Amino acid sequence: MHLSENKINYVFHHLWHHLSVPTLKSHEMVILKERYHPALGIKNKLIFQLSSDEKPQPVIVHYQGAPIPILFGLEKKDATLFQPDQQGNIIFNHDLLSSAFYLLSGQQETETDQKDQYGRYPYELSIQKQLDCAHLPLVNYYFDIITKGIEAYAKTHNKKVEHHRLFNDFGFFLSHDVDRVAYYHPLYILYRIKQFLGLAPSTFSKPKIIRLFFQGVFHHLNPFRGQDPWWNFDWMMKMEKQLGIRSTFYFLKQEDRLNNALYKYHHKKIKHLITRLHESGFEVGLHGTMRSATEKETLLRQKGEFEKATGLQPAGIRQHYLRFSLPLTFKNHEAAGLRYDTSLSFAERDGFRNGYCWPFHPYDFDSDEMMQIWEIPLVMMEVSALNYRQTGFSGLQKAAEQHILEAKKFGGIFSLLWHNCRINDIEVAGVSAFYKLLLKFIVNQGAESARGIDICNRITALEAQHPPTYPEVSK
Ligand SMILES: [Zn+2]
Repeated sequence: MHLSENKINYVFHHLWHHLSVPTLKSHEMVILKERYHPALGIKNKLIFQLSSDEKPQPVIVHYQGAPIPILFGLEKKDATLFQPDQQGNIIFNHDLLSSAFYLLSGQQETETDQKDQYGRYPYELSIQKQLDCAHLPLVNYYFDIITKGIEAYAKTHNKKVEHHRLFNDFGFFLSHDVDRVAYYHPLYILYRIKQFLGLAPSTFSKPKIIRLFFQGVFHHLNPFRGQDPWWNFDWMMKMEKQLGIRSTFYFLKQEDRLNNALYKYHHKKIKHLITRLHESGFEVGLHGTMRSATEKETLLRQKGEFEKATGLQPAGIRQHYLRFSLPLTFKNHEAAGLRYDTSLSFAERDGFRNGYCWPFHPYDFDSDEMMQIWEIPLVMMEVSALNYRQTGFSGLQKAAEQHILEAKKFGGIFSLLWHNCRINDIEVAGVSAFYKLLLKFIVNQGAESARGIDICNRITALEAQHPPTYPEVSK
């Protein structure tokens, strides 16, 4: 497809988060829109060749003992990934730049109008599904291959290479979307009647629905009733503090009564909760309402209400249901002055929607340029594994272990979303015990706990410290 100069620079901009070569000059990196040939007379350069294919032509290569798909392959699969020649060049044999751009920018999502019932890009359509590679942060692998090539070049040209990691081992970004706070809300109790009559969907049997209905009624009648199972914030905070974790809570709000929350920011209980979380070192941010993903005014209003009620300025957002429209949702987030978003995971499949386990800048396809806001990729939402993929607890645990291994390889992030309303043993037996064990396991893996804002600050500082060098593009 021959990347534009802005798109090429976008890829290099992110590559230089991982390494720097202070004495490497722009003219030492050459981008070819044709295949390399010695007759071109190029000497002492890093040579990148661009594919002219519009759509990925994947080639599976073996890298670090694992099969890795390169989306824009140029050679057969057993070709070396790069090689030196007699003229002091290093030549990359596949188009790693287009491959990285395609995933990181989310280009595939702009190539279709198809969305699921919630307005989301369906995993079914993705190249990750096609190649069964959602579990691999491919862009990190591509950058690793390019780094190896640059190291080979630096060695023969006497240059020093510095490597940067975002985390020494890996970062653990735990977050909670606060969709619902009252399991025994009168509306939910009345909803049981609808379910019993078959007028609303239910996963429970009729006797269980009746039991749940009366349980709800008795909860309200009982003067000695305990805490509502979805008002579990003290339990969550206490456990996280014990484990040395500080997480981020994203708050939704009531709007249109359409699939949003049943609370508002100015409700006393919510206001106090937000203040208490903030004062205990947890981060609080926005959980964008259904409309806010595409309506700027709605998002601005939501942010204004949050600030007015709490006196806090949210830095980050995650969209409810992970609803997203590229690049519109990002533009709205930027317009609202938010510093980062963390919505991008496939709803139906945990793993790497943009093929990356580091924070990155989104790409604005309308103006063909990089945006300033950060995306901190979401790697795993409990619902993706437990509900969509039906993995059960053991399957979720296994998937989490795999994601952590990838994050460790690249000093990146394992980001886990667990809703407070999904740690309810009445609905899912044993979930609170499993959740606690899982957090302990992650901490024992050497995790460094980081909130969204911490990650944002860390990558911003790293970027400021190491200004990028962009290559020369042949005409
Ligand atoms: Zn939500």
